[in-house]
Amino acid sequence: MPETECTTNGFGTRCTICGEDHWTFLREGRDLCRPGYEVRFRLSRCMACGHVMQTPQPSDAELRAAYSTDYAPYRVTWKEPGWPLWKILRHITTWRRVRRLKRYSRGSKLLDVGAGAGDFIDAAHRAGWDVRAVEYNEELVSAIRAELGFEVHVGELRPGLWEENSFDAIILWSVIEHVPDPLDTLRLACSYLRPGGQLFFQLPTLYGIERGQWFGEHWTLLDLPRHLNFFSKESLSRLCALAGMDLMIFKTPTLDAAWCYYASSVSYIAQAETSAKRVLRLVSVGMRAFILLPDLIFRAWRARGTEAFALAFKKEANEPNHLSHHSDV
Ligand SMILES: [Zn+2]
Repeated sequence: MPETECTTNGFGTRCTICGEDHWTFLREGRDLCRPGYEVRFRLSRCMACGHVMQTPQPSDAELRAAYSTDYAPYRVTWKEPGWPLWKILRHITTWRRVRRLKRYSRGSKLLDVGAGAGDFIDAAHRAGWDVRAVEYNEELVSAIRAELGFEVHVGELRPGLWEENSFDAIILWSVIEHVPDPLDTLRLACSYLRPGGQLFFQLPTLYGIERGQWFGEHWTLLDLPRHLNFFSKESLSRLCALAGMDLMIFKTPTLDAAWCYYASSVSYIAQAETSAKRVLRLVSVGMRAFILLPDLIFRAWRARGTEAFALAFKKEANEPNHLSHHSDV
């Protein structure tokens, strides 16, 4: 169904940004980490503010099943022998993240929310940071504690884990799009940050989810049903303000746009049913690269790329906060 056809059937889902419940269908897809699992998940656009999110939101049981599969960020690099491509790419990602941390923060105490396999906290520790973390996956937490020796709590970010105002930097790499209540997560993160401290984000963008229609469900940014919300610079800025922070940086690197095109192409070609179809898809991807890839890179350069690096600062205690949740973005 094209986006121009309107529906209000969000199954009672309220918009994360404005609280309205009127939607237009945008696109849908399956969980590509679970071959043969045919349930389709749908993304819709809020008719009031333009925000894009899953409607309906998947159940807790659905999400638990989705995270218990062969989920790429959970693969542990330090246990993998040799240098397969995914391990090289993970190291490049970690190196880029540590470089951003060094560039924008001068503190010493760091909290990583959603530590995954622990690559980033290990690298941040080596760069001189005193690190703490929370991670949803119990098995990974046990491995990080036993083999890397860091203090990691199992589960989601919640009150009472550490003293308030005690961290110089908090990390949300590829997290905010996964949590059911992003504003609650931001408020909690903000409570642990010292005034003036920094919150680092990496996230798939609203602009990215509007592109790559031609790849269908193979557009890697979808990652359904794990990605629940897709933010723009404006909507993320609004949530940060509501949580007591100022969004200062929102960049969409061109490298991420190129990677998104490449990874989507690989998925699209690999999951063709026959060899003949694979060859056709390979030719098709190659031909379309001349149009789509330059378009993606141009948009990334204009801060409308597929993935964003964003940075917010916690307001000082005397700074006012005028926003209310349900006013316009
Ligand atoms: Zn809305």
